[in-house]
Amino acid sequence: MYDVIVIGAGPAGCMAAKRTAAAGYKVLLIEKLEMPREKSCSGILIPKSVEIVENEFGKIPDSVLCRPNVSRGIIITNEENQAFTFESSGLNIWRSLFDHWLALAAKDSGAEIRTSTVAISCEEGSDHVSVELQGRKTYYEQAAVVIVCDGAGSLIKKNLLQERNSYIATYQTFSKGSIDLDSQFFHAYLSPELSEYDAWFNVKDDFLIIGVGVKDPNKIKHYHSRFLSFLQSYYNARIQPQVKEERWIIPYITPGHSVTLGKGRVLFAGEAANFLNPMGEGISSALVSGCKVAEAIQSVYTKGHIVNAQQLIKTYEKYVLQERQYMIRQWELLARVSPKFSDFLSS
Ligand SMILES: Cc1cc2nc3c(=O)[nH]c(=O)nc-3n(C[C@H](O)[C@H](O)[C@H](O)COP(=O)(O)OP(=O)(O)OC[C@H]3O[C@@H](n4cnc5c(N)ncnc54)[C@H](O)[C@@H]3O)c2cc1C
Repeated sequence: MYDVIVIGAGPAGCMAAKRTAAAGYKVLLIEKLEMPREKSCSGILIPKSVEIVENEFGKIPDSVLCRPNVSRGIIITNEENQAFTFESSGLNIWRSLFDHWLALAAKDSGAEIRTSTVAISCEEGSDHVSVELQGRKTYYEQAAVVIVCDGAGSLIKKNLLQERNSYIATYQTFSKGSIDLDSQFFHAYLSPELSEYDAWFNVKDDFLIIGVGVKDPNKIKHYHSRFLSFLQSYYNARIQPQVKEERWIIPYITPGHSVTLGKGRVLFAGEAANFLNPMGEGISSALVSGCKVAEAIQSVYTKGHIVNAQQLIKTYEKYVLQERQYMIRQWELLARVSPKFSDFLSS
């Protein structure tokens, strides 16, 4: 029997596992893939993420960075072709290497890591949660509390709450080439001509990354090729054949959008809980929610005792409130820049 089982070794899961293990709990971190594993991402750590990571995990090693190492911020071009520059000094990382480094730090703090293992479902007993796992065979592990950090498409959440989430489908391609855009900025475009949500361009090592987010996945290539033509016409993009493509999903944030923090002794963090900031920035809120869920457990759960589920979720709600408010403020800021997102002002 574990004190805590954490599902998913992304930023939320690694933070939660590291924190709870360092507090002396017996922790199992479950990851469905072998690490280092791929995670589709632009890999921009905003200053808030850098600060949280460096406080908790130590200096981010050069080995996880890609060129240009520093991200100078984001330039958002809205539907009316007005460009807004938000300068901030962040870092440009490869997610596979970064997340692996986080997971190793969680292990160093005492968490047991089990990779190539899929968590299927959670079921609450009177004093524990039983987690169904699939590695080479199907089996069960038990814990006093489970933290679900399995990302946007959370299988555990679907199975536990029986509710459907809405998603934005993302598609990004990696190609070599050249373009007249500043490689130190992340460039986002909100014109409905270019995507149903947003379209983006950024640089990682020698790769030009061209991406779009859509509501209807059938239209993804259509918008991607429109965006590519736009970059060729306006920024002199000369793009060689693509060497890699990635498809993923992010939570579809709408005015009625709310975060879901859990049920009983099963708590959600990161994108599984629906934390996501504008332009798909989610690492910072994954880290914060991973940290807050661990703090809530620490404040409510004494080893060997039964966790009071109501007290646990209330404490987590309280601890994570500031982050929820931060997230709403970010969406409101975007709404001021872009009419497309203006409904958020009234949410
Ligand atoms: C195209 C794209 C670009 C993005 N760019 C940025 C960016 O530049 N900066 C930024 O801050 N954010 C960005 N994001 C968002 C960011 O990637 C996420 O918000 C962040 O990764 C969420 O962290 P998480 O820990 O909640 O989940 P994830 O990082 O998704 O981690 C979930 C983990 O759980 C594992 N898992 C899934 N299911 C199971 C299961 N059933 N059992 C066991 N393990 C499981 C997965 O393999 C994964 O390792 C981007 C997202 C996309 C799609």
